[in-house]
Amino acid sequence: MKNIDCLISKVDLKELSHLKVGSMADVYFPKSYEDLKLIYEKFGDEEKFPIGGGSNTLFKDEHNKILISDKFLPKKIKIAGNIIKVSSNYNINAFLMKMAANNLGGLEFLAGIPANIGGLTFMNAGANNKEIFQFIDSVLVLENSGKQRLFRKDELNLNYRCSNIRGFILEVNFKLDIDSKENIMKKIAMNIMKRKNSQPITKPNLGCFFKNPSGSSAGKLIDDLGLKGLQVGDAIVSDKHANFIINNGNASFQNIIYLTELIKQKVINQFNIKLELEIKIV
Ligand SMILES: Cc1cc2nc3c(=O)[nH]c(=O)nc-3n(C[C@H](O)[C@H](O)[C@H](O)COP(=O)(O)OP(=O)(O)OC[C@H]3O[C@@H](n4cnc5c(N)ncnc54)[C@H](O)[C@@H]3O)c2cc1C
Repeated sequence: MKNIDCLISKVDLKELSHLKVGSMADVYFPKSYEDLKLIYEKFGDEEKFPIGGGSNTLFKDEHNKILISDKFLPKKIKIAGNIIKVSSNYNINAFLMKMAANNLGGLEFLAGIPANIGGLTFMNAGANNKEIFQFIDSVLVLENSGKQRLFRKDELNLNYRCSNIRGFILEVNFKLDIDSKENIMKKIAMNIMKRKNSQPITKPNLGCFFKNPSGSSAGKLIDDLGLKGLQVGDAIVSDKHANFIINNGNASFQNIIYLTELIKQKVINQFNIKLELEIKIV
């Protein structure tokens, strides 16, 4: 049997998170689905953390999970009419371009997000009152046993920015809308422009840090408290969008956590609302 130790690399986790916070750690980089299966078989029920685009992930300085990156896995896509089977490591923006070329639309609301299909599915990502699950038919998952299992959408418990998926998402099957390429490209451009105008996309960030409490907006609560620009070390509440925390250079994990705790405390004191993190901490 192949020795999976050769799949480990010591890397700076900063490079695997869109927030550019992290330290050196061992990460598995499987190059084939057989490699991935061997990793799952070896570690069984030990806690694993798949890493996709890293656009929602904050790394602690130390952690005890088995980190597995999707970076070097083969990228696969199969289009049959409006049914698309795509590997989880496909970047959403590349996927949207491919879909537009095939006159397939629906997911344009995700345009401009620096994420992969697997992470977007695990998080049930959404924007503009739409969520990715609306377009998902089924998801192929590698379970802790090393066996693959196909889940229908209704088995996945996809809720607001969460799912009950346990294991590594291998493939997602989408059912998209038939639309004209021109129309789809227009929607993509409009959504990217909207993000550029309202989000600090030129600085390292993880999108919205907090989930919206029911019936209200986390960004608005933080903005109403005048917290834009609040800073701990190099971690700053963005001036452009109050629910975005940016890394202005060398922010540490502690800087980010201290700032989020400060925000949470101020929101509780003023509004009696407990903000919950949307981002994932490893
Ligand atoms: C500029 C910017 C804008 C954003 N805008 C939005 C937005 O509009 N709407 C929105 O919902 N989010 C948004 N986000 C947040 C983020 O992009 C989403 O949460 C996205 O779903 C994360 O995908 P990822 O591939 O980067 O996942 P990662 O950060 O790599 O991982 C996120 C979670 O998914 C899990 N995961 C990743 N890949 C797999 C896999 N193959 N199998 C199983 N689990 C996996 C990870 O273990 C982790 O728990 C934004 C982020 C940024 C930086």
